[in-house]
Amino acid sequence: MVRGHAKAEAQAKNAKKNAGKEKGSNLDAIKQSVRAVCPICKTPTSTIKVLQDHYASKHPKETVPADNLGLTK
Ligand SMILES: [Zn+2]
Repeated sequence: MVRGHAKAEAQAKNAKKNAGKEKGSNLDAIKQSVRAVCPICKTPTSTIKVLQDHYASKHPKETVPADNLGLTK
């Protein structure tokens, strides 16, 4: 049962580590959030939702490229 215990402990450690990581990288996440740039007029948008709204209002005849959709993941 030692192995099982060690595994559980490692998982708890990892969970703690990840939680701290998420908190600490909030600023980085915000910086990285400006990644969906309009390929047509180069306007930076924070989320794909904003980019979609931007397309709807500025480029209604264009469709949001699939490449940008992947950036939000
Ligand atoms: Zn645009």
